[in-house]
Amino acid sequence: MHVQPFYRETSFFMSLPNAPGTISSEVSVMGVKPRKIRLEASTACQLHCPTCPTGVGRTQERLGVGHLRFADFSRLIDDNPFLTDVELSNWGEIFLDPELPSIVEHAYRRRVRLHADVGVNLNTLREETLESLVRYRFRSMSCSIDGTSEATYGSYRRDGSFEAVIGNIRRINEAKARHRTRFPHLKWQFIVFAHNQHEIPRARRLASELGMRFWLKLPWDDLYATGNAPPPGGDGVAKREMGLGVASRDEFAARYGERYAQKIMCSLLWHEPQINWDGRVLGCCVNHWGDFGNAFSEGLVPSLNGDRIRHARSTLTGRLPIRHDVPCATCPHFRSMERAQDWLTFGDLLTAGFLLRHRVALQDDRLRPALRPLLGLRKGVRALARFRS
Ligand code: SF4
Repeated sequence: MHVQPFYRETSFFMSLPNAPGTISSEVSVMGVKPRKIRLEASTACQLHCPTCPTGVGRTQERLGVGHLRFADFSRLIDDNPFLTDVELSNWGEIFLDPELPSIVEHAYRRRVRLHADVGVNLNTLREETLESLVRYRFRSMSCSIDGTSEATYGSYRRDGSFEAVIGNIRRINEAKARHRTRFPHLKWQFIVFAHNQHEIPRARRLASELGMRFWLKLPWDDLYATGNAPPPGGDGVAKREMGLGVASRDEFAARYGERYAQKIMCSLLWHEPQINWDGRVLGCCVNHWGDFGNAFSEGLVPSLNGDRIRHARSTLTGRLPIRHDVPCATCPHFRSMERAQDWLTFGDLLTAGFLLRHRVALQDDRLRPALRPLLGLRKGVRALARFRS
């Protein structure tokens, strides 16, 4: 099969009506060959965050508890020299993978940049791993730290230690100074709840002292239905600190007319497909209940362009009805898209591609002043497009 990256197929997207079932013959020519993939280093985690599917043992039921093996990683990289970047974090903690130092070294030798921008809890960091991160220029890492005291941090990051995390950040910074390098870039990710919003200003200051960028994130609420009630979200303080004028995903949807970060997550099927540690293609960072094939046994590009994942892409762009054997069929995001008939557009995919390529987190502090006007403008453009259609 001859496979083209989607961005060379622009006319394909632009010419399509949002009418399910009208272009099935064209689906077969669509393909992706992304330069960046997401390959989970570990689905194990030592913490028990109450609304995280990993924290309550849900992801392990389908994805297994396992670590990416060096042999699988090196074969995938060597067989696909067009890859430039790999994101290693998603459901678990990458630092629990015992073969991580070899993986980091191999990526460096093959000129592939490694990231952990989805997030690490950083409670555990072996000396050998620390040395490899800095020596082999691990590119960037987002540290999930929702508080600035042991009590606040531990009320969501159960079994974690705030002091241990800050100690590990200081160790990384010392090693960076020793090796005279800027890498890895460190970012502080703070999920805002009612119990921690008062610590946001102090977290910002501490992040700055530690040489980290800072960004705030809305909690998952009950997206993953873990059976645990989500901790109460923030209020006016959170709205002001986040710069969005909202403190929950529901408020975000009501105010901006779209679900928080959902378009970006669905667009991973095109831009940065998610792959489990054992090679199963999951497509996006949300799906942990089904797969589209196996990148290790079928080959990367064929597995990213199999029948079911191509059908999923067609469904998400509103061109074909859902099939029950496609994992999206049981996703809360898909159901809400279907209810609203609000499918991914070419503009959504372009925007997501830009944000992902430049690793722009929606609520990075640096974007705060521009965020509300930009989201308002986007809402207006979408409304105009709907009116014209
Ligand atoms: S609908 Fe759900 S499972 Fe499908 S790509 Fe979007 S977030 Fe992932």
